[in-house]
Amino acid sequence: MYANYHTHTARCGHAVGTDEEYVLAGIEAGYRILGFSDHGPCRFPDGSESGYRVQIAALPDYFASLEGLREKYRDQIELHIGFELEYYPAHYESMLERIRHTDCEYLILGQHAIYNELPDLLMSARPFKEVEYLREYVKEVCDALHTGSFTYLCHPEVFNFIGPEDQYLEEMHPILVAARETGTPVEINFLGIRDHRYYPRENFFKMAGEEHVDVIFGLDAHAPQNVSDPYSLAIAEEWVKKYHLHLLETVELRKP
Ligand SMILES: [Zn+2]
Ligand SMILES: [Zn+2]
Repeated sequence: MYANYHTHTARCGHAVGTDEEYVLAGIEAGYRILGFSDHGPCRFPDGSESGYRVQIAALPDYFASLEGLREKYRDQIELHIGFELEYYPAHYESMLERIRHTDCEYLILGQHAIYNELPDLLMSARPFKEVEYLREYVKEVCDALHTGSFTYLCHPEVFNFIGPEDQYLEEMHPILVAARETGTPVEINFLGIRDHRYYPRENFFKMAGEEHVDVIFGLDAHAPQNVSDPYSLAIAEEWVKKYHLHLLETVELRKP
């Protein structure tokens, strides 16, 4: 692996290690490019902030720390600074507006919840049988891709549908069409592989191969030791071969 654009920091509250430990792990593992994309902030109209993210007050430190490391290690590794973000129809404009006031270089889409997170928190990881929720997830992801703001789509199968597989694939198909139309790569998520989660789903990537969609690997590192992940890499490479996936080594960053 030459590049990884999916690295978190301890600021989201559920990752560990210092920023520098991630960078050193990246150099040690031989990456040429390491992108940080911690969970981007979201403030709701009532003034409260969504959890599991970089809080708004921590944004200056996020950029100052990573920009300092970029300078310090510039001869050894190329660092990029972005965010992983949801597309919440009701809040997206304000989320984007805040980010545009920073030096953010790129966004990756991680649709961890549907329907704006509030008032009814429907986390994508909750097992769902209801096809209408899967449809909502797919619609939000497709709308997000068509904004043109996202550099790639993380863990496309994060919505945990437990209904029939053929129905799942049929409902998910528009995501691949939108990815192809907008030239947005979809990620094989290594966190899901190494933690034996319900994603990534092999059948989805079989379909991605048939649809000739670009694919990218993402470590989704939440600890410095995740920066090297030969176990997940071997499985992802096997899928690439098996399903003739068009794997990208690097992506062109889209400034939001
Ligand atoms: Zn995520
Ligand atoms: Zn992530």
